[in-house]
Amino acid sequence: MKIIPISADSLGTRSMATFVETKDCNIFIDPSVRLAPKRFGLPPHKIEKERKREHWKEIKECVRKSDVLIVTHYHFDHHNPDAPSIYRRKTALLKDYQNKINRNQQMRAKRFIRKLGDYPKEILPADGKTFEFGRTLIEFSKPVPHGPTLRMGWVVEVAVTDEEQTFVHTSDIQGASVKSQLEFILKSNPRTILMDGPFSVLMMADQGRPLKSSERNIIKIIRKTDVKDFLIDHHFVREEEYRDRIPKIFEVAKEEVVNLQTCAGYLGRKDDLLEAKRKKLYKADEERKR
Ligand SMILES: [Zn+2]
Ligand SMILES: [Zn+2]
Repeated sequence: MKIIPISADSLGTRSMATFVETKDCNIFIDPSVRLAPKRFGLPPHKIEKERKREHWKEIKECVRKSDVLIVTHYHFDHHNPDAPSIYRRKTALLKDYQNKINRNQQMRAKRFIRKLGDYPKEILPADGKTFEFGRTLIEFSKPVPHGPTLRMGWVVEVAVTDEEQTFVHTSDIQGASVKSQLEFILKSNPRTILMDGPFSVLMMADQGRPLKSSERNIIKIIRKTDVKDFLIDHHFVREEEYRDRIPKIFEVAKEEVVNLQTCAGYLGRKDDLLEAKRKKLYKADEERKR
């Protein structure tokens, strides 16, 4: 199995877009990419906009080679309603829009599916189901909360298994602080995982309880599964100091010989946290003008 993160926050855009190749089929999970409309009171910088264009181009290239496209929930960094034709002749496995979905995402989902029209070969609700493509299995969790509470609705997690290994893409669980989010991961026992980590700034609410729980659960995954490559990204790297927020997970990963790193690190590149650095990018422009 080949697992290639195409766009991610550590690569400079908001996304968890991932291309997975197995002997039986090619799968694209969450083919979309966005930028924070406002961060530090500032709109996206031109470097971010350029990066987004590059990432979208790469997404489209990999989607073209894919048989199956997956949408884990209906936020715009995970599905792109402006490009329904990329679903042409693909099998679309989508988060169910009728059950366990909040009103905002349901509206987006209905609009999206209307736009998909006849493009896909088939559209199937994915929640809690398993699909077989040759000897490759794609298994979905039941809907789990988008983060520590249900304020942002639900997502589905995905496990892809071929004869070599299991890969889990957690979607936006923001650090697996909730039992149901964790259980799917433990049960799937991945060799490789791409997890949406906690956005620590937000998770300091409730006396930091969600962040503590996230730390505990990440350690459980490291110790209790066969994970070797643990990619942590998305919400987690929206500030430059992310490592200092829960340093213990990096210590435990080292002890257990698990490669805990961002998507950029997994690809052998340096983090490029453009959103976290947005203020600095504008400041550098100002200084150049002087
Ligand atoms: Zn989301
Ligand atoms: Zn997201």
